[in-house]
Amino acid sequence: MDTKVLSADASGIAAAAEIIRAGGLVAFPTETVYGLGADALSAEAVARVFAAKGRPRFDPIIVHVASPEEAERLWAAVPPLARELMARFWPGPLTLVLPKTPRVPEVVTAGLPTVAVRMPAHEVALELIRVSGRPIAAPSANRFGRLSPTHHEAVLAQLGGAIEAVLACGLTPVGVESTVLSLVDDPPRVLRPGGTPLEALREVIPNLRVNPPHGPSASPGTLPRHYLPATPLYLLEPGPPEDGEGVDRMRCGFLAFRDGWHGFGRVEVLSPRGDLVEAAARFFSALRALDEAGLAAIVAEPVPEEGLGVAIMDRLRRAASGRARLSERHAWPMR
Ligand code: AMP
Ligand code: MG
Repeated sequence: MDTKVLSADASGIAAAAEIIRAGGLVAFPTETVYGLGADALSAEAVARVFAAKGRPRFDPIIVHVASPEEAERLWAAVPPLARELMARFWPGPLTLVLPKTPRVPEVVTAGLPTVAVRMPAHEVALELIRVSGRPIAAPSANRFGRLSPTHHEAVLAQLGGAIEAVLACGLTPVGVESTVLSLVDDPPRVLRPGGTPLEALREVIPNLRVNPPHGPSASPGTLPRHYLPATPLYLLEPGPPEDGEGVDRMRCGFLAFRDGWHGFGRVEVLSPRGDLVEAAARFFSALRALDEAGLAAIVAEPVPEEGLGVAIMDRLRRAASGRARLSERHAWPMR
């Protein structure tokens, strides 16, 4: 793919917006770092972001909006504190986490019931969002494991050939990522320190809590950072089942990569045509559908470990409590 270098003027922004609306990827400047943007309401476009970055796992992505009203359409409930923070700190490097509406695809939030939203203080970013007419999901525009880019040349060096376009705007003003604040926790909790100082937040939230900089927080009541199913999940492995306590297949859900599986209580197919981008786009909603179906167990078919298959397998392995083999009538979980 030829990555277009677009000028950060009205015609460049119009071309970039067209790409976003068509499900493509555009790197764009914000006041912090360059973001790798996709239509936040399109699961497939967002799945392509993970593919372009070469991320070996799924992480929730921040959605960028051009107004507080647009943010409110992505959240299921908006407490007065959120309105106060938006009025005071937006546009700016403050990301707010609140419960999401069903409009936001699960791949955006890596299956979490919450979505992180911010309004960047950069005219080019805001104009791109306005002209696209879509909220834009965007992690930093670097390849996995590399530095977040603060110049469009750095974006090109890492993602040239892998994305449709970059809006060329030179250096970004701040170079530090946004502060991520969860309003789902009570009292509110800073999940990641960043461009909005804690002192400024404490003027509005005196009892603000801050995640320790390293490692998971041990405090009770802290939100999970990742969605894992509550139903026991087993990765399918080839071979005949061994003796043991088999589970009736009709009480099992089956998470299939491709079509052709029968005889389970419920089957969710990730991609009938065997496409890993489509599979990644559907992964979290399919897993949640099985998790909420009242089944005794979920059996998951491994996907090829290439491209987005690496991230899917990472999540499946972390969700799995063991492996399973199948017989005509039973699934045989093996710890
Ligand atoms: P980046 O990839 O640099 O844009 O970073 C995104 C940050 O926002 C990471 O620290 C994520 O863990 C955090 N984040 C995004 N969405 C959520 C969410 N729904 N809940 C909690 N943290 C989130
Ligand atoms: Mg990053």
